[in-house]
Amino acid sequence: MSRSRMLAMAAASAISICLPNLASAQGEVNVYTYREQKLIQPLLDAFTKDTGIKVNVVSASSGLEQRIKTEGANSPADVLLTVDIGRLEDAVQGGITQPIKSDVIEKVVPAQYRDPEGHWVGVSMRARVIYASKDRVKQDAITYEELADPKWKGKICIRSGQHIYNNALIAAMIVKHGEAKTEEWLKGLKANLAQKPSGGDREQARDVAAGKCDIGIGNTYYWALMTQNPKQKEWADATKVILPTFAGGGTHVNVSGVVLAKNAPNKANALKLIEWLTGDTAQHMYADQNYEYPVKAGIKTNDIIAGYGKLNPDPMPLAKIAEKKKAAANLVDKVGFDN
Ligand code: FE
Repeated sequence: MSRSRMLAMAAASAISICLPNLASAQGEVNVYTYREQKLIQPLLDAFTKDTGIKVNVVSASSGLEQRIKTEGANSPADVLLTVDIGRLEDAVQGGITQPIKSDVIEKVVPAQYRDPEGHWVGVSMRARVIYASKDRVKQDAITYEELADPKWKGKICIRSGQHIYNNALIAAMIVKHGEAKTEEWLKGLKANLAQKPSGGDREQARDVAAGKCDIGIGNTYYWALMTQNPKQKEWADATKVILPTFAGGGTHVNVSGVVLAKNAPNKANALKLIEWLTGDTAQHMYADQNYEYPVKAGIKTNDIIAGYGKLNPDPMPLAKIAEKKKAAANLVDKVGFDN
């Protein structure tokens, strides 16, 4: 590692970092991550065990793209791990990525879950679903379009419309139905809200459990995590997960993913890590420790997640959803969704 990179890594330590010591014979790879280190560290430890490649981690909850940009040509960043097409797209738009060229990735990761130019790759999947009151919701199937039906008036809870998870869902709706119809849909959904959008996904289940609403909108893994959390288990117990579909069929799926940094100093090792993340060991860990859907075919989904029913992902490429990111954000403002 050059002196300037060492300095950049040292500066990074203000957040959270494993300081680089002597690299092993296999060298090292520097990972910047928005993903909670608690979730990601077991994966990275397993990678080191498999390959002998040491992993240095910089973890933060915001600002990593800007930081990689500021570090410029001397950035120690090799890869950035993040969630959601929105954040992957932000990294690409920020000019901090380079194409990932890998036959392994192209074979394992379905085309809809990676950038056509290779600037981002999805490594695990999650669906945007309904946490429905077990007592008050009788139906076991629902469409996203139906969320705007007046029959749900005062019964829906959701986090901010500007959160990336909702942004992607709204963007997908735009791809399906166009902006004008999506605006109507969003107005209808807003009219059905029980309360002002707030909290995270789990809080929507909490509020369903408390009787404030009948259905909450959240990601698949949060419900599984609630079942494992003594304080939140009752929120899961009060709700059932329904996998919604768009009117034409297909559930909205997003990814956690990775980009290869533009100036990656350890590019070969970075590619090894990215490929490893789509391999069997990592895919089983994504499934059973993070409760995400494996992106690799043939890897078993965790039983709790499988219990939601069979996932039929909407075939829409995430790159198409990324194109409507801004339009979706504008609509949320326009209808005053969060007001
Ligand atoms: Fe999340």
